[in-house]
Formats: sequence, structure tokens, C-alpha cells
Amino acid sequence: MRVELSGTHFPLETLGPGRRLGIWLQGCPLACAGCMSRHTWAPHGGEPVDVETLLDLWRAALADGAEGLTVSGGEPLDQPVALAELLRGAARLRSAHPRHGSAADGLPADLLVYTGYEESELDAVRHAALAHADAVVTGRFRIAEPTRLVWRGSANQRLAPRTALGRIRYAPHLGREADGPSVQIVVTPAGASTGPAGPPAVRLLGVPRRGELSHWERWLGERGLRLRERSWRP
Ligand code: SF4
Repeated sequence: MRVELSGTHFPLETLGPGRRLGIWLQGCPLACAGCMSRHTWAPHGGEPVDVETLLDLWRAALADGAEGLTVSGGEPLDQPVALAELLRGAARLRSAHPRHGSAADGLPADLLVYTGYEESELDAVRHAALAHADAVVTGRFRIAEPTRLVWRGSANQRLAPRTALGRIRYAPHLGREADGPSVQIVVTPAGASTGPAGPPAVRLLGVPRRGELSHWERWLGERGLRLRERSWRP
């Protein structure tokens, strides 16, 4: 099974609890005003990869102590069959992994999915794709509804646990406000990303607070890194 991939990163520390593997799927038709990831909109603008390749990354991340997997985008539920296979395989690997239960809270690694759809918008195929997700963040990003809730970009978005593990792992975070860095800066050398080879890229991973993207753009500029394109600008 192939999936159109935007990128991956480990360790990701700004989209879910602990050190995580981040997988961003390519393609999103929802076009939220203010989206920071416009580069993920085009359905074929990423790189086709086998789900097994992503599971190899997950296997390696688990061996390195990953506390969870975050799948975002783009819109992961627009590739529902591949997403289902990815999550099914990720659940199988985390259960079999010898370091199962190595997270700081003693729980197994969890599987978190971001979607711009509301739960009520999911058809049977998309619903089935989330069968192995421990928690889901749902809803469009609405720029006019800022929030300080951790891992959510706007106040309408819901963090919804879906399994017993998800309910335990995410219970302390459902109403918690962000108290640490909300964005992680990753500089990817030319041709070194999991996505298509290209020029060096600066990736801002996470859910920036209002005004934070401009702040980081200035911060990078003061250090000699001038951005030629910005994924949050049309
Ligand atoms: S914020 Fe998310 S759901 Fe909205 S357009 Fe961007 S990638 Fe799509």
C-alpha cells in the first residue's frame, strides 16, 4: 500500500505527549484560512512511499524510546485506506516492542491523529481508518478563534481520546494550556528530508500561537536564515 507523504520527523516534541514520531500525509482540500501548511494541500505534491517504509521508521522510533506516533497533514483522512493500514501496523508494532511501557508515565506508545474534519463528517471508510487511533484532534483551523489549549490551533478543535490508553494518556491534557514551546524548529539540509529532495528547508513543527510564525521568521532572519517561501503565505 502506497501513501502520499509530506514528511516525517523524530523526535517530535510539540504534537502530543513525549518524544514522538511525526508523519505528515500530503493533500488537504479543506483550505483553512491561516493554515501554516499550505505546502501540504496539493494531493500529489509529496512523495509516494510504502506504508511499510513508514512502519520501519516507527519500529526504529520505538527502539529509540518513542512515546507515541502523531499522524497529521495535510488531511490524513483523505487517504483513509493507507492510514488504516499505517495505524494497524503501528499498533501491532508498539504492542510487540520489547520497550513497551517505557514512556515516562509507564504507558505504551500512543497513536494520535490530526484531522480537519469533524467527527460528524466522517463516512464509514474514514471512521474505520481511525479504528486504532488512541486519540484524535478534530476540526478545521479557525484563525479567528485562538486558544491556549495545548496541541490545538483554535478553540473549536477537540482532542478526543478513543481508547482506554488514549483516555489515560490524554486525560491530563484535555483542558491543559500550553506551558512549553509550541513550535519545534528543524533545519533540513538539501535533499536530506524523507520528502522530495529540494533546497534546504526550515520546518516549524507544532501548533504556533498567534503571531508566533512572524516571531520565528524574525528570529531566523536575525541569525542569517532568510526564508524565500513560507508555507503559511499564499
Ligand atoms: S489547517 Fe489542517 S485542515 Fe486546515 S487546510 Fe491546513 S492542513 Fe488542511
